[in-house]
Amino acid sequence: MSRVLIIGAGGVGSVVAHKCAMNSDVFTDIILASRTKSKCDKIAAEIREMHGVTIRTDAVDADVVAEMVALIRKYEPKLVINVALPYQDLPIMDACLETRTHYMDTANYEPKDVAKFEYSWQWAYKERFEQAGIMALLGCGFDPGATQVFTAYAAKHHFDEMHYLDIVDCNAGNHGKAFATNFNPEINIREITQPGRYWENGEWVEIPAMSQHKPIDYPEIGPKESYVLYHEELESLVKNFPTLKRARFWMTFGQAYLTHLEVLQNVGMTSIQPINFGGQQIVPLEFLKAVLPAPDTLGENYSGQTSIGCQIKGVKDGEDRTYYIWNNCDHAETYKEVRGQAVSYTTGVPAMIGAMLMLRGDWMKAGVWNCEELDPDPFIEQMNKQGLPVQERVNVPLPHEY
Ligand code: NDP
Repeated sequence: MSRVLIIGAGGVGSVVAHKCAMNSDVFTDIILASRTKSKCDKIAAEIREMHGVTIRTDAVDADVVAEMVALIRKYEPKLVINVALPYQDLPIMDACLETRTHYMDTANYEPKDVAKFEYSWQWAYKERFEQAGIMALLGCGFDPGATQVFTAYAAKHHFDEMHYLDIVDCNAGNHGKAFATNFNPEINIREITQPGRYWENGEWVEIPAMSQHKPIDYPEIGPKESYVLYHEELESLVKNFPTLKRARFWMTFGQAYLTHLEVLQNVGMTSIQPINFGGQQIVPLEFLKAVLPAPDTLGENYSGQTSIGCQIKGVKDGEDRTYYIWNNCDHAETYKEVRGQAVSYTTGVPAMIGAMLMLRGDWMKAGVWNCEELDPDPFIEQMNKQGLPVQERVNVPLPHEY
């Protein structure tokens, strides 16, 4: 019996719940809990109708450790899958420690009052998780997540030494809305309005936000303007693969999206400093989130594909080698399968796979781990089975020059 407790009923939480239900040989009992129980009930009804599986639902404020502890004690799951927001990572990890329950998430911890994300807070739990004999798997979505598995797979099968890594993330989809973000708007906007950062020759190089960009040619999509951003998996990848001379992360943005974002920034709507409004303290970015479309409402009529992968250059058997490993995913197909758009799907499916590998024992070991520290082979095998087929090219010119 493998009972799992999923926290968060947004775009990603919904996909995780659907995909766990579709793998009911591994996930024999599923509980979905979020702040708003009605959202969980709606997903549960969909899952019953589409996959004939009954899941249980509950309400919790995961910021409150005591509430999380009580919820874990009530259901006694083997594993908690945290797909709420990064703010909840530490309280949920604390509750898992107190109840000796395995933990995983898809995004690293961020304090609410500072737009800053790094692994130090969660890595600090390593010894306590080891001593309690439980595992925490960090950042097991697509990026972070599958991109680290791709890099580990490249290191295991294609290189003696990796020197250059470019993670390339394209969403060439069209949801028909003037401005919307594909995952939680607050977290998304905090991420992309920060200065860019990449790793070069042993140190971080910081650049103004969105200041480095060029077209990258994505498979089956074509050239799309791509921007250098700081992304959390770079922090653990350069630590775990010290031969990397450079590691960068690129993401596509359309001109209309950037224009909207610039205006919103210029008028102060992306600020996280509280302001007084009508006698109340409000945070402009939280207000903006409330008026933007929610990520889980974008799926219907979303067309086009995402393409996310790793382009790597290094040496194998004394010769230079290039390697590109990626997945393309179609918004309309994922909506048909689980009622979610491809950004939620490409996050939720790897989360389910990580959970499956932990529960089956392939990836189970006490402590706190990032995805590239575990065997990539069973993960890639499951991506091919679970709707995220992996493609690769060896020793052909990469889509952009180094
Ligand atoms: P949504 O905004 O759609 O959903 C977030 C959910 O979390 C909501 O259901 C919300 O509940 C719930 N939640 C928020 N606060 C609490 C709380 N205190 N207690 C309990 N539940 C809470 O976001 P997404 O589904 O798009 O994203 C989910 C996570 O996935 C984020 O952390 C995001 O950063 C991560 N992500 C990771 C990616 C990757 O590739 N690794 C890519 C995309 C996203 P309610 O609705 O009731 O308020």
